[in-house]
Amino acid sequence: YESFNKDFYEEQPSVSSFDVPRPIKNFVDCGFHVPLMNAIAKQGYEKPTTIQCQALPIVLSVRDVIGIAKTGSGKTAAFVLPMIVHIMDQPELEKEEGPIGVVCAPTRKLAHQIYLEAKKFAKPYNLRFKELKAGCEIVIATPGRLIDLLKMKALKMFRATYLVLDEADRMFDLGFEPQIRSIVGQIRPDRQTLLFSATMPYKVECLARETLNDPIRVTVGQVGS
Ligand code: ADP
Ligand code: MG
Repeated sequence: YESFNKDFYEEQPSVSSFDVPRPIKNFVDCGFHVPLMNAIAKQGYEKPTTIQCQALPIVLSVRDVIGIAKTGSGKTAAFVLPMIVHIMDQPELEKEEGPIGVVCAPTRKLAHQIYLEAKKFAKPYNLRFKELKAGCEIVIATPGRLIDLLKMKALKMFRATYLVLDEADRMFDLGFEPQIRSIVGQIRPDRQTLLFSATMPYKVECLARETLNDPIRVTVGQVGS
């Protein structure tokens, strides 16, 4: 009984703001278009995970979000699906240059995993990733790689309006704080910013406070710092 109670408690999400869109129960509640719904079904995702139920409607309402949940809880789709919606909402998608969605991840391996997940959902829309010469809508990279691309002037950031800092605690552990701050400073302030992390150490909290605009915090499970 005790362990049931504990698990139940730990899975209860908490949201720390008023006027927050209600959590969804099914992907249908997100109002995704048919091609995206089909791609979700093709992935075998029957129901959104707890963090997805909470975070998807908030991200789709164009609010900044701090999402805290342990590894394996489905954080990637919580930012990738709304990113595709955000990109498809942009006018003259083919005409302009430079990424609209920018995702920072701590390692190349993680960036590649996010790319694989995003590619499946973006497939019906023919969105382009980091093919620099051909232009692209989405860039997923480590902070170091992004800084290199910016220094080489290989990336135009003027239409980047959806920034994701994934696994923020790990990026800090790896010493990427200066790079992250530099990247954030090069992306227009009217962007939507999402920060995902398994833990929220003080330094990550400070970055979130400085770079997110009136964020809504979604926490799933008990999180140490
Ligand atoms: P996190 O970023 O929180 O560590 P991931 O986004 O990598 O978690 O997801 C972990 C695994 O769960 C992945 O294999 C992913 O494809 C799968 N997954 C994510 N969302 C769902 C869902 N709604 N239904 C089933 N599987 C899912
Ligand atoms: Mg992840």
